[in-house]
Amino acid sequence: MEIIKEQKSCGICDEEKEKGIYLYNLFICCECEHKMIHTEPTEEQYKYYLQKLKHINQPTLYS
Ligand SMILES: [Zn+2]
Repeated sequence: MEIIKEQKSCGICDEEKEKGIYLYNLFICCECEHKMIHTEPTEEQYKYYLQKLKHINQPTLYS
């Protein structure tokens, strides 16, 4: 994970953000990263994040 400083489209909220991290090839803004960290797996919102993160969970790592 790497801190970057340029306008990128967040893979979670789809907004252009300056600060965020890269999770594999998906950019996640600071706000969403923070929310994800503080979301309990039992919360409904957690499923939403998992849906979004599915896109970067490519099984090609082992192929
Ligand atoms: Zn975001």
